[in-house]
Amino acid sequence: MTVPPASAIPASTPFVDRHIGARRQADVDAMLKAVGYDTLDALVDTAVPRDIRQDSGLELGAALSEVETLAELRTLAAKNKTAVQMIGQGYYDTVTPPVIRRNILEGPAWYTAYTPYQPEISQGRLEALLNFQTMVQDLVGLPIANASLLDEATAVAEAVLMMRRANKNKEARDGKTVLDADCLPQTIAIVKGRAEALGFEVEVADLSKGLPDGVINGVVLQQPGVSGRVFDHTSVIAAAKERGALVTVAADLLALTLITPPGEQGADIAVGSAQRFGVPLFYGGPHAAYMAVQKGLERSMPGRLVGVSKDNAGVPAYRLALQTREQHIRREKATSNICTAQALLAIVASMYAVYHGPDGLKAIAQATHGHAKTLAASLKAAGLDVLHTSFFDTVTVAVPGKAAGIVAAAEGKGINLRSIDADTVGFSTDETTTAAIVDDVLGAFGATRIDAAAGTDTAFALDAAVERSSDFLQHPVFSTHRSETQLLRYIRKLSDRDLALDRTMIPLGSCTMKLNATAEMEAISWPEFASIHPFAPDSQTAGWRELIADLEEQLTEITGYDQVSIQPNAGSQGELAGLLAIRGYHLSRGDEQRNVCLIPASAHGTNAASAVLAGMKVVVVATAADGTIDHADLYAKIEANMDALSCIMITYPSTHGVYDADVREVCDAIHAAGGQVYIDGANLNALVGLAQPGHFGGDVSHLNLHKTFCIPHGGGGPGVGPVAAKAHLAPFMPGNAATWTEGNDVPISASKYGSAGVLPISWAYVKLMGGQGLTEATKAALLAANYIAARLNDFFPVLYTGEGGLVAHECILDLRELTAKTGVTAEDVAKRLIDYGFHAPTLAFPVAGTLMVEPTESEDLGEMDRFIEAMISIRAEIDQVEHGDFTLADSPLRNAPHTAAAAISTDWTRGYPREQAVFPVHSLRQDKYFPPVGRIDGALGDRNLICSCPPLSEFEN
Ligand SMILES: *Cc1c(COP(=O)(O)O)cnc(C)c1O
Repeated sequence: MTVPPASAIPASTPFVDRHIGARRQADVDAMLKAVGYDTLDALVDTAVPRDIRQDSGLELGAALSEVETLAELRTLAAKNKTAVQMIGQGYYDTVTPPVIRRNILEGPAWYTAYTPYQPEISQGRLEALLNFQTMVQDLVGLPIANASLLDEATAVAEAVLMMRRANKNKEARDGKTVLDADCLPQTIAIVKGRAEALGFEVEVADLSKGLPDGVINGVVLQQPGVSGRVFDHTSVIAAAKERGALVTVAADLLALTLITPPGEQGADIAVGSAQRFGVPLFYGGPHAAYMAVQKGLERSMPGRLVGVSKDNAGVPAYRLALQTREQHIRREKATSNICTAQALLAIVASMYAVYHGPDGLKAIAQATHGHAKTLAASLKAAGLDVLHTSFFDTVTVAVPGKAAGIVAAAEGKGINLRSIDADTVGFSTDETTTAAIVDDVLGAFGATRIDAAAGTDTAFALDAAVERSSDFLQHPVFSTHRSETQLLRYIRKLSDRDLALDRTMIPLGSCTMKLNATAEMEAISWPEFASIHPFAPDSQTAGWRELIADLEEQLTEITGYDQVSIQPNAGSQGELAGLLAIRGYHLSRGDEQRNVCLIPASAHGTNAASAVLAGMKVVVVATAADGTIDHADLYAKIEANMDALSCIMITYPSTHGVYDADVREVCDAIHAAGGQVYIDGANLNALVGLAQPGHFGGDVSHLNLHKTFCIPHGGGGPGVGPVAAKAHLAPFMPGNAATWTEGNDVPISASKYGSAGVLPISWAYVKLMGGQGLTEATKAALLAANYIAARLNDFFPVLYTGEGGLVAHECILDLRELTAKTGVTAEDVAKRLIDYGFHAPTLAFPVAGTLMVEPTESEDLGEMDRFIEAMISIRAEIDQVEHGDFTLADSPLRNAPHTAAAAISTDWTRGYPREQAVFPVHSLRQDKYFPPVGRIDGALGDRNLICSCPPLSEFEN
């Protein structure tokens, strides 16, 4: 510990008083009074079942101040060692343009935004994501790209599963999946791990020599390969198609500015990482992966897709197309379990393309390629054996017996090379490579620089067959924001179109949109954290590993489990990791037949989708009238699946926002039947310091650090979904994809520590709050939810309550009766809230026709009252519909949200005044948010799918 002496620390307000919004005693008392309790503890004691309460406080040490926390982070950062990162293998150094770093990566308007499910308040980030899709489509030469996946290796796994779903060729569909041996090792490991759970065959073969024998469902190639080799894929792709296989190419976006895109060579799917487009190495993540597909495959593509539709005035508007909330709707039939992806990083990558434009990207690629050629030529001239003649940025060199010495010599000069084996060294050049670095690398090999173009045999030019001839990034967005002033204003213009946490509460049930404190965020872009390669030697990463071990330890203490892995990079991936651990456990005991996963009807859609990916069969358990698990049905389902029972997945407190009193009984019944209990920990914000899933019946859980532990939502990612388990499941926790060998623990993410780059945020949160502060936050979250429930219950009945009529940390407002009576829907209310300057609560999950409100502990009483006032005012408008003051079609509800253009139009003929449209409550006169578009027609956008930047003329009406 390097905490400065107390005398050196300026006295300041404890952080907990800044994190918790309603902190003044008078506010707490007012809220308690509304709920009908004298003390907060009395409320908590009633709401949380006695038999799950933990008996002692969290042992996490005392809370630190912001100054102390940052000092500790500085100490940890200093234990990492930055270097020139030339290891490659899927991760390349890059320059994040400062204007993008400060205004997007570190810009709260971008990082505190939620996933754009409410498109009217999300036009800015939707445009940025559409730019990302357009950029990917252009570079890979395929017509449809999605708005990011979690990392390259899992994107390949998604592509493999998609080929298995989408291959309609009768002979080929059940065949094996073939991966080129030159795929990234972490990719091969992830695909094999997924295949093992699902029971299909994967073969790894050198495809430059042609396809292996046998029936093939799909083929995966890598361009350039991990060895650096670039070969013309045309004939192997043609041969694969001839045999009925689909083809995926994992491709490097920067290389594609020079190399023929996979789409032009006949590939069906392209995937890869957009990391080197301005996203820091981050010790392995978070980075945006991409996926693009040929026409006809878009409906089975995983992840989110931004499309173009029109609003109620016919103005073009962006929205998420097709699979908006597909896990919730399709559950075990979903195309994948991915929910939170990598929106913020995709936006950074898209802005990098906006910043550089096509010429700038090409210049970076040429410089990168040029340095690699110089290195190869010089090494060859020095008599070394350069293994491939056609490459982009990565060179592999045979150095029999000398690899260790060369890698060490380079490290001595502050350069990390890739140590492949005792006889082989590799390295990758990138945007940051300089002539001086080239000389140092050559020095490590004992060579000196020669001019690459000096002799034809050492020119190392790309084969003509793979040279790109087509244009890319021709849309004006990639050439109009070239000065910094223009780009700054473009970034500002887009974020001004959106509502994020920096403007309003985002009361989204289940999503826990709480404060992302600046002090928590600061460290993520420090070079000692951000510029570390995931495969850097341990001697350079002590600080990172200490921070991660510390955080895993903190989460162990909080959850009551025995072991935590922070590897999964979203909640959905934590679910898969946990279920695979359960699977591994049953298999290790010879219980091969245990593959049934019970899931309550109210579960989050990812649960069922994850169970399918873990090779399990989903059996749904009914909900009782009071919102708890239907016991009769539970026991019947256990009985019916006795021998095959693998596990149950329950969320606690339940997705109904209530602490079910019988959770122990449910867990006991499952254990008695030989099953395991998976507790979805997305609602941990209602438990921290009060109850521990590891102690009240859970065997394994995932947590969402981007919910409970303050990682910002980023407009749809990044996330971290640690998996936490009891000791008996510890041997089955995620393995390391980069070093994985068959038969060992299945890895979940491409890199060992997943989205390491954002972990300092959660680490700092725990340090700033301390055990007691975290517990107080939980209690404050309970009070806030119960306050809103109590204040709104007369206007919108609260659907489910537990002991004493209390809810947990969120409440479901039931609109179904009002809808039946007046036709006004929960969606109308959600859209009308925009006119009041709010982001809607969670719509239609977990119950259709309802809104789920989660204020979190970070909202102050004034903001909650502003929300309550808005909801009560909206209720009065619903009554106006009922009383016939205006028809539903002509109401401010159905016409919401109102744009400025609508409000000032000369032909205002609506049955309510303009004032009511835009200033329904007085405070809006000063602080008014006007959505840039009106209500968007979702069905139109799905019928007529447009998912790249439309011509600007479309917007000129
Ligand atoms: C958010 C959530 C998930 C999924 O987490 P992601 O990080 O979005 O993948 C799973 N279960 C519940 C209850 C959730 O609220």
